[in-house]
Amino acid sequence: MLAYIGLGSNLENPRAQVEQAFFELSTLASSQLLKRSPLYGSTAVGPGEQPDYVNAVALLETDLQPLELLDALQAIEQSHRRVRIEHWGPRTLDLDILLLDDRCIDSERLKVPHPYLTQRNFVLYPLVDIAPDLNLPNGESLQELISSCPQDGLARLE
Ligand code: AMP
Repeated sequence: MLAYIGLGSNLENPRAQVEQAFFELSTLASSQLLKRSPLYGSTAVGPGEQPDYVNAVALLETDLQPLELLDALQAIEQSHRRVRIEHWGPRTLDLDILLLDDRCIDSERLKVPHPYLTQRNFVLYPLVDIAPDLNLPNGESLQELISSCPQDGLARLE
């Protein structure tokens, strides 16, 4: 199964958090890290003042089942000492399953495609970098989505 994973961090040296997360994804059981996007800097969405985010996207080939993959990603998040203070609050590391092949999943723990995938420029831009010809399970193309998703607050990092 091909899995696109969104990475985000805005605390405790976000760039290092994301780099470390890429390394951990490369060592995930029954999985192979196939691609990693460039890093992007993005302005935080949500209440109050928050530090900027570093975002990126990874492509994995995995034999894990969807919930096993979610468990593995949550274990990585925990190892980054992520504190769930508030839903939109700052976080040391956030890992989201964006897409799993052409599957659609709508369970309590897991929704795929990720609900914010089509609206968030910090997901769409790095995703298009590594998957320019990709379509969503409903047939929408990433190119169409990105053409109506301004790059406001988002910059590719060196
Ligand atoms: P948050 O970290 O605030 O984005 O939300 C984490 C929660 O979202 C977890 O409890 C997951 O079970 C749930 N969730 C639902 N769909 C997904 C997904 N596609 N990827 C990651 N977490 C998900």
